[in-house]
Amino acid sequence: MSAPVIIIGSGLAAYNLAREFRKLDKTSALMLVSRDHAGFYSKPMLSNALSANKSAEQLIMKTADKMAEELNATILPHTTVVSIDVEHQEVVLGDDTILPYRDLVLALGADPIRLPLNGQAAAAVLSVNDLDDFTQFNRQLDGARRVAILGAGLIGCEFANDLLARDITPIVIDPATWPLSRLLPPEAGAYLAQKLSDAGVQFHWGVTAHSVETVDAGLQVTLSDQSSLVVDLVLSAVGLRARTELAAAAGLSVNRGVVVNQYLQTSQPHVYAVGDCAEVLGLNLPFVFPIMQQARALAATLAGTETSVKYPAMPVMVKTPACPTVVAPPALGAVGEWHVEPSETGMLAKFSAADGRLLGFALLGSATAQRQALTPDLPVVLA
Ligand SMILES: Cc1cc2nc3c(=O)[nH]c(=O)nc-3n(C[C@H](O)[C@H](O)[C@H](O)COP(=O)(O)OP(=O)(O)OC[C@H]3O[C@@H](n4cnc5c(N)ncnc54)[C@H](O)[C@@H]3O)c2cc1C
Repeated sequence: MSAPVIIIGSGLAAYNLAREFRKLDKTSALMLVSRDHAGFYSKPMLSNALSANKSAEQLIMKTADKMAEELNATILPHTTVVSIDVEHQEVVLGDDTILPYRDLVLALGADPIRLPLNGQAAAAVLSVNDLDDFTQFNRQLDGARRVAILGAGLIGCEFANDLLARDITPIVIDPATWPLSRLLPPEAGAYLAQKLSDAGVQFHWGVTAHSVETVDAGLQVTLSDQSSLVVDLVLSAVGLRARTELAAAAGLSVNRGVVVNQYLQTSQPHVYAVGDCAEVLGLNLPFVFPIMQQARALAATLAGTETSVKYPAMPVMVKTPACPTVVAPPALGAVGEWHVEPSETGMLAKFSAADGRLLGFALLGSATAQRQALTPDLPVVLA
């Protein structure tokens, strides 16, 4: 049998690619190797699982066995790839097994960034970036009343909103002065903060966490302004960093992610990258929609028709039911201005160029209804 297409990973990038590939090629050998359980689940559900009343087990839509059957693929769960030999087209597993590949796809994801924290309980700080993390988080939430969240970005705000479903007070800490500060203009940020506060979220703006200590009543978090708070749990949500180590060690070009061209090819033949680990022509966009575009393009390439990935405008829905929000941030370095129109029930913020062209938007509350109408006016992200 000829060497398989090997995909490393079993997240949305790996499985979407495998599915798209099987639509085009029913027979070539296909293998997925993942260091986790390799069950199929939707990672975005992790930050609304509490209000959706789902346990970690219930979040698994299909087991690895079921996926293997459906995809006519070999799936190796709990199997770590420790190195790649690009010259011989082989990957090496943790137990020294060597697997040859026809083509290799890195779908390795990203690691949560950990802030350097002082204090003897710094290691107790959790982050939730996969199902196993969620299991642990969910377990530790039992009996918790107050949870500190480091970071008021997308994921921090979503978890804060979700914790309200458990009657827990989320206390969000961020060095900026409004939530989603890199995606929203200040007025829109203030609106979102107000809605989340009304729903029960507390915020500490303009500060960072400095240390975490165990005290009798729980965990004491000391902030950069010397104030402190006592909570039951600390969740860190300060951002992600693409997993590039394996690629770098194999001599592939890496930057913020594994560097790929518009065909999702790395700097080595027969090696590709998709999902959160990939940097496509300088763009590392850790969201589901770009993954779908990548999966379709790369599946075609792997099935014999070289196809470049294209990104249309891709607004992101923020899962904060206390204030429904959709953001399409302007491209980095885009020149323009925000124009904000508040209404009784929401806020419409448009980022436009001097000539009036729409370059980005943020829609809050009732303004989210304008998403469909405005999206076609946005510039494409990658032509
Ligand atoms: C809480 C949360 C909420 C989110 N909400 C949204 C949302 O609403 N909308 C949206 O668009 N995006 C959202 N995202 C982002 C989205 O979930 C990610 O972009 C996407 O899931 C990334 O998929 P991936 O397959 O690239 O990475 P991952 O899902 O991280 O998969 C990486 C895989 O690689 C495996 N792996 C890594 N290293 C090795 C190795 N050496 N050997 C073997 N296997 C290895 C891992 O086990 C894993 O299976 C959210 C993310 C989080 C954390």
